Amino acid sequence: MLDPHLMTQMTKWRRHLHRFPECGFEVPLTADFIAKKLESFGIEVHRNIGQQGIVGVLCCGNGSSSIGLRADMDALFIHEENQFEHRSQHDGKMHACGHDGHSAMLLGAACHLAKEKNFNGNVYFIFQPDEEHGRGAQAMIDDGLFERFHIDAVYSLHNMPGLAEGHLSVRSGSLMASESSFEIIVSGIGSHAAMPHCSVDPIVTGSQIVLGLQTIVSRNLSTIAEKAVISICEFITNGTVNVIPSEVIIKGDCRCFTEDTLQKIEKNMERIVAGICQSAGAQYKFNLTNTFYPTINNAKITQHVIQAATKVIGSDKVDSNCLPLTISEDFSSMLRIKPGSYALLGNGTTSSGGCALHNSKYDFNDRILGIGAQYWVQLVHDQLT
Ligand SMILES: [Zn+2]
Ligand SMILES: [Zn+2]
Repeated sequence: MLDPHLMTQMTKWRRHLHRFPECGFEVPLTADFIAKKLESFGIEVHRNIGQQGIVGVLCCGNGSSSIGLRADMDALFIHEENQFEHRSQHDGKMHACGHDGHSAMLLGAACHLAKEKNFNGNVYFIFQPDEEHGRGAQAMIDDGLFERFHIDAVYSLHNMPGLAEGHLSVRSGSLMASESSFEIIVSGIGSHAAMPHCSVDPIVTGSQIVLGLQTIVSRNLSTIAEKAVISICEFITNGTVNVIPSEVIIKGDCRCFTEDTLQKIEKNMERIVAGICQSAGAQYKFNLTNTFYPTINNAKITQHVIQAATKVIGSDKVDSNCLPLTISEDFSSMLRIKPGSYALLGNGTTSSGGCALHNSKYDFNDRILGIGAQYWVQLVHDQLT
């Protein structure tokens, strides 16, 4: 059990972080607050990994096993509409994804473990910047996270509004989707609207491309094994009231659950764009940029998650085979390199926890701080015996 005083402290830390949100890689106040707290617990701290990321190292006993527990630190460029006392003091920035809570829970676990020192092995507390743009985890990896620190397996946790307060959901395999954005530029020949025979009309060609892309999910991918979403989000032309344009730009977003599926989507997209443009006599440029990889949980490590969560909250509150989600998460970059597992902790369904992530009225539910911290402590006890 956690010390009741620690529960109060975690709420204080969480609200402090909420008051002073920072975004992207620029999280100096947040990183400094976390680093100083870890140091005050007697934990060895390494700063500036992946720009402003932090790694705290806590070793105990003579065991060589190790575990990496990861929290994200960054906020969003959203103007907070809440009026409570701990609302954002940084105008235009807000902790609307609960990363303030994730950091506070991991600090709570660090404080408890540093005091009790009743495990055998090494715990690495990883606090990363810039999750929201999908760059922070990779930046820490590129800066030697897994070379400088010998980490056997990595774990992370995200709060989930709409999931009952303090319940945990996880699944082995694909939990969250990849996210890629694409841009297609169709170049034709513009003309007077009255003389379309003088044009190579990129609107007609672009429209065929929009329809053609719908066939990838329905005709090129397996209905059962290769779930995906392809959405066209923008269709921009340089035409005007009586002018057939010379160019159309089509932009969109696609998500799927394995890197193989993503490669298939990219290949089929280019095939369709090239074929339609060739038949129309238009030119094209096609570019697909991957921002987030799919989040794929290791089966064995996920069993550790289920075991620890069951001990803390009971099996009736653990969903060990939840449905995958089409949102994305950059912890996926760590999971490509290390075995690990990502789980979702219910933020609640009522007004205090049910408001959606990335909403200007969202707030992390402080009542789940203790459950999250206890879950981290349990994982360490189970894995480092
Ligand atoms: Zn988010
Ligand atoms: Zn988030």
